[in-house]
Amino acid sequence: MEKEEIRAGEAAGEKEVVSRNFIELEIDKDIAEGKTQVVCTRFPPEPNGYLHIGHAKSILLNYGLAQEYGGKFNLRFDDTNPTKEKTEFVQSIISDVEWLGAHYDGEVKFASNYFEEMYEAAVTLIKKGKAYVCDLTAEQIREYRGTLTEPGKESPYRNRSVEENLKLFEEMKNGVYPDGSKTLRAKIDMASPNINMRDPVIYRVARMTHHNTGDTWCIYPMYDFAHPIEDAIEGVTHSICTLEFEDHRPLYNWVVEEVGYENPPRQIEFAKLYLTNVVTGKRYIKRLVEQGIVDGWDDPRLVTIAALRRRGYTPEALRKFMELVGVSKSNSSVDYAMLDYCIREDLKMKKPRMMAVLHPLKLVIDNYPEGQIEYLDVPNNQENEALGTRKVPFSRNLYIEAEDFMEVPPKKYFRLYPGNEVRLMSAYFVTCTDVVKDENGNVVEVHCTYDPETKSGSGFTGRKVKGTIHWVACETAVEAQVRLYENLVDEEKGVYNKEDGSVNVNPNSLTVLDHCYLEPSFEGAVGGDSYQFVRNGFFCIDSKDSRPDALVFNRIVALKSSFKLPK
Ligand code: ATP
Ligand code: MG
Repeated sequence: MEKEEIRAGEAAGEKEVVSRNFIELEIDKDIAEGKTQVVCTRFPPEPNGYLHIGHAKSILLNYGLAQEYGGKFNLRFDDTNPTKEKTEFVQSIISDVEWLGAHYDGEVKFASNYFEEMYEAAVTLIKKGKAYVCDLTAEQIREYRGTLTEPGKESPYRNRSVEENLKLFEEMKNGVYPDGSKTLRAKIDMASPNINMRDPVIYRVARMTHHNTGDTWCIYPMYDFAHPIEDAIEGVTHSICTLEFEDHRPLYNWVVEEVGYENPPRQIEFAKLYLTNVVTGKRYIKRLVEQGIVDGWDDPRLVTIAALRRRGYTPEALRKFMELVGVSKSNSSVDYAMLDYCIREDLKMKKPRMMAVLHPLKLVIDNYPEGQIEYLDVPNNQENEALGTRKVPFSRNLYIEAEDFMEVPPKKYFRLYPGNEVRLMSAYFVTCTDVVKDENGNVVEVHCTYDPETKSGSGFTGRKVKGTIHWVACETAVEAQVRLYENLVDEEKGVYNKEDGSVNVNPNSLTVLDHCYLEPSFEGAVGGDSYQFVRNGFFCIDSKDSRPDALVFNRIVALKSSFKLPK
């Protein structure tokens, strides 16, 4: 049950009722009981890939809690597994966290900075008789571990003396033993119903060059041992992680208690964010990148943070999305349409609405003076006057969308067809008079006449027309490439191919339109800038491939959808 409270400071009469999620309720309790003074959370990525939207949830959740309670938020790399980790990933993760607006406290932290303390903690356990050096092979350890229904078997090395363990562990550290030949194990309970408590390995011998500590160490701590210690050293109060660690919580608690930390951190689990028909797992994204199915980790069809950024998503939209999704204890999957809704809502009022023709067809106004260019005042955003107006050139020769003309229109088609009159957006009324066709019978040019009395904003109150279409003057048009996207996943087949585990890729996920025409209002525009193209959606200048003289736009999202905000 969620408790409801009224946020302090809200003006009387417009009090906002905010429901607290289960994590907030736990933290409230810890504060009330005096267990927590200053809340400290952290985001602990492993630098083995790019962050994705699921990580964004974790970042914004942890940072949001720190902010809400006036506490601290740490960014700490969980770099205890050197084989898969790379500095390239460290850089991209820092830049993504900063882009999301999550301000971490002090310096970026690394688990590897605490290797010395972890070693000392292991020695403490050995001295307390709570850890031992074991010579079983990985294979044997697995066999001895038992199953969910059968208890495990104790290792023959379990009862080594403290002195012997101390000596062997030090020798492990000093490189006396080959990789994999010995481990340090926590001495807990081989009969525990929780397999994680059956004397888990806490240190292994492995000669691996670490991106931070180089070859200083040839023993490395295991995640379940290292993580609680990292949290405790940093004074983390609430270590928030995803549900798959629920069964590891008793071990987390065992470590902080046996090592003897005062005010130990506590672990709280929440459900991972999944999007329906979207590839989120790092492993799968990596494979798509390696197979060249996508154009790198930041391909706009992916949901890595780098990709969402390149596509034109904003941190505000992602924050809104996470708010709507909420925090939960049970796994579920969210529709991508909700993310689309959030970016649309964010950009709607903020961005200028430009005219861009994606599938051009030429329109000639026969009674408009040849060579004349007229600059019309066009509001940048009809719903937000603060964005002002701009001058858009108008002339005898225009581009319109091919679909805005039909020679033989169906019923209820209100756009251009022979004899019909429409409004050219922010300009004049035109009436279609004629068409020019190529040798195959395709319409290549539409002719019309305009009525000078109908200029937009002139106060003309004569006839009404049912259709309004957008246009771009040919003489001054800017040619650009526009990329349209559909889901990378073939939704009919689902994400994963059941036979070989590969991703079912939608062959139409990318459409490249090379000869689009834009009004000439993009001087000084740079990668990452975004706009609404009237009637066509929101678009962002590609930060990788666009050049000032050859603009490339990514469609962020179309304008309309059937998505309804859940109540
Ligand atoms: P993946 O499974 O995609 O490879 P991971 O869990 O291995 O991700 P880490 O770098 O270990 O990636 O994760 C850093 C933090 O992000 C962890 O606290 C993890 O629980 C959290 N996290 C990862 N994926 C999600 C998700 N889908 N939703 C919410 N939090 C997530
Ligand atoms: Mg992981």
